[in-house]
Amino acid sequence: MSAGSLSVDDARQMFLYMARRFIEHQDILSQADRAIGDGDHGVGMARGFEAVQQKLKDPAFGSMSELFNAVGLALITSIGGASGAIFGTLFRGGARRLSGRQSLDAEALAWFLQDGMGAVQERGQALPGDKTMLDVLAPTAGKAAELVSRPLAEALQALVPLAEQSLENTRQMVAKVGKAKTLGERSLGHPDPGAISMLFILKFMAEYLERFPT
Ligand code: ADP
Ligand code: MG
Repeated sequence: MSAGSLSVDDARQMFLYMARRFIEHQDILSQADRAIGDGDHGVGMARGFEAVQQKLKDPAFGSMSELFNAVGLALITSIGGASGAIFGTLFRGGARRLSGRQSLDAEALAWFLQDGMGAVQERGQALPGDKTMLDVLAPTAGKAAELVSRPLAEALQALVPLAEQSLENTRQMVAKVGKAKTLGERSLGHPDPGAISMLFILKFMAEYLERFPT
């Protein structure tokens, strides 16, 4: 475990890896959405990450913000539904302080999560506790701020168990927004599908750094 940071092209490869893993995991996401939503979350995320694969085929990115914006735009324009806007906004809003940056280190990761969270909240008007992807994003964004001086791989390894625990906590929440809202108390006991995707984003980043140390 050596990777302290990723170059723009390493980060592009990391997103291509993330895209493959999302496509492989689409059934888990759709199954979770069948329990408390309309069952389309996995198909949507897979379609979104296929668009990411297309967009990131060539190493045409001059900075980290260009790369994150491209990922966000691919998701927004291809997914549709709530999660296209939400996850697209995460990457686009999260790119704000990455402007002109050539490397992704633990500090840039913390900025991505914090700014992404702000943008998602502004866009979707949900709060932590409403049973959404924010219930994984908010605690991990907070923790990432404490890990800024660690190597990127180490910061991610510390965030993944917190994301897993935070995802588990969504089972105890009653949905207050999105399609699951109509279920009320019947959403209890089930994890939030978007929260699983938020865990996957961090987990697949961590996996990439473990498997392909730079
Ligand atoms: P749809 O609800 O349109 O079918 P998806 O099934 O793809 O879209 O995604 C549902 C997920 O989107 C939810 O599990 C939740 O995590 C997330 N989500 C929905 N609305 C919001 C919101 N306002 N803020 C944050 N996340 C949201
Ligand atoms: Mg759905």
